[in-house]
Amino acid sequence: MRDNDRLVIQSADEFVRLRSSDDPEEYARAAHGAATEDIWLDVIDRFPEMCFWVAQNKTVPLSILELLRRDPDDNVVRMVRSKRSWARAHPEDSMRSDLTGLTVDVPCPRCDHGTVNRHLFAPTSEVVRICDECESLWFDGDGLRADVATDFASYSADRGGSGTWSELSTLS
Ligand SMILES: [Zn+2]
Repeated sequence: MRDNDRLVIQSADEFVRLRSSDDPEEYARAAHGAATEDIWLDVIDRFPEMCFWVAQNKTVPLSILELLRRDPDDNVVRMVRSKRSWARAHPEDSMRSDLTGLTVDVPCPRCDHGTVNRHLFAPTSEVVRICDECESLWFDGDGLRADVATDFASYSADRGGSGTWSELSTLS
């Protein structure tokens, strides 16, 4: 079996199973595997609580993102608006250009040698920005200034997390 075949998601139920799996390889497939438009529509229809993860999938087509842009859940909408593919198609609606012009791979204003990227904090589905060196943390939408930074360990602890990077998924 070729690698691409292995990644293909065959049904809505398979997507839900992969996403709900404790196996990192399986939930990575939920994030990277491709599926047909019919399968995505089936997930949205039968598993509305999975809409966020549909929006997060790296291969999901624009037609599906356009549907999810109208989702009642703010987290789903935010995920759609933070995607590269959305920014290309709908730059006026993208969250990637309204974050004080600073989006991805931004130099850290606190330690100077790390870079700051946007991540999803899994326990709360909140989007935050974290330096990969010093783990300074900014809330999404805040200015990226040294004096308003907190740090990932205390942020995570306040929310019952363990402060490990496995709680984060990087947003593309
Ligand atoms: Zn830093």
